[in-house]
Amino acid sequence: MNKDDIVTLPEPNLRKKSARVGIITDEITKLISDMREATIDWENSRDHEAAVGLAAIQVNKLYRIFLVRNDFENTEDKKFTVFINPEITKTIEPLEDDYEGCLSVPDVYGKVKRYHGVKVKALNERGEEFRVTAYGFLARILQHEVDHTNGMVFIDHIKDDPEAFFRLMPGGGLEPLDYEKDIKDNSILWG
Ligand SMILES: [Zn+2]
Repeated sequence: MNKDDIVTLPEPNLRKKSARVGIITDEITKLISDMREATIDWENSRDHEAAVGLAAIQVNKLYRIFLVRNDFENTEDKKFTVFINPEITKTIEPLEDDYEGCLSVPDVYGKVKRYHGVKVKALNERGEEFRVTAYGFLARILQHEVDHTNGMVFIDHIKDDPEAFFRLMPGGGLEPLDYEKDIKDNSILWG
């Protein structure tokens, strides 16, 4: 797979719930390696963005699987952790506002409220259960990716907030979008 296999809005599958993985077949192992390839290929095509996570639904495979970058501050490190059948078992307050983007929502960024911390339980690619407790940006990524497995895109959290939408400038900075003109009735975003 490559970056062109990553689906973007208004792809309706992005708002569907993905299915649990039963046994980890060769098809699932291949999918995981394809997802990693597509993520790296996407990153190599972007000047100012790092790919920190990808869910299977973003390559149009409706399985509860996502990848998260091991070291999202160092894009030289191309390793990812695989989460299969992930579940948030605990959320840790407070809710915090911060910017996030998504490979399936090109060039639109949003200021989204997420829990400061989460505990997540999942299976790795060998089918072994593991648990992670994460805070800050990693907790945000995990909440964003678990949302994907439930058919939710980050903009769905902020759809009624005129102040929450931004776009990426050619130089890498963010600038507010015009909610009435660019967001509110945009059928690309809302289907
Ligand atoms: Zn996303």
